[in-house]
Amino acid sequence: MTQPQSSSDRHDILTDAVFKPSKFFNTRPDNIDIDLLVIHCISLPEGEYGLPYIEDLFLGCLDCNQHASFADLVGLEVSAHFFIKRNGEIIQFVPMDLRAWHAGVSKFDGRSNCNDFSIGIELEGTDKSEFTQLQYQALVKTTGQIMRLYPKITPERIVGHSDIAPGRKTDPGIGFNWGHYKQQLAKELL
Ligand SMILES: [Zn+2]
Repeated sequence: MTQPQSSSDRHDILTDAVFKPSKFFNTRPDNIDIDLLVIHCISLPEGEYGLPYIEDLFLGCLDCNQHASFADLVGLEVSAHFFIKRNGEIIQFVPMDLRAWHAGVSKFDGRSNCNDFSIGIELEGTDKSEFTQLQYQALVKTTGQIMRLYPKITPERIVGHSDIAPGRKTDPGIGFNWGHYKQQLAKELL
């Protein structure tokens, strides 16, 4: 499979994002509707921000010797379409028409393998702490752009990783303010 080289020739790479192509993707099933948005959070090491390790992980070049906790990540092949840093900077790793590897074993509305039909956004953070206003602003703007491109993603079809993998995943966690996000999103969509 050829790696998309340029963001300018694809509708599914957002111009507000810095495109850093990951090798962790594949094609979606034929004729599938993209109709779910999944919000995640991640930090590496846990609770530390502004370091290069998350991007390295999604790009497949993380040196797992950099921190003791990274031993769990050896051989892990994961990605997300988007990553929003604490300062609101947006990185895109996988074009949205392609399938990123963020949800794992998951189910939404009776359908399993949510990676097939969803877009995944990772917020830099932990499942127990709050997110920054710059992150909410970037997330709201990005969500609006995604919803315009994929109108089957309605506000009701925006969920947390914990909603589609209950008992296995806890992100984006108790610090993620769904009310604030949905309220700001409603304004963005006006
Ligand atoms: Zn997650």
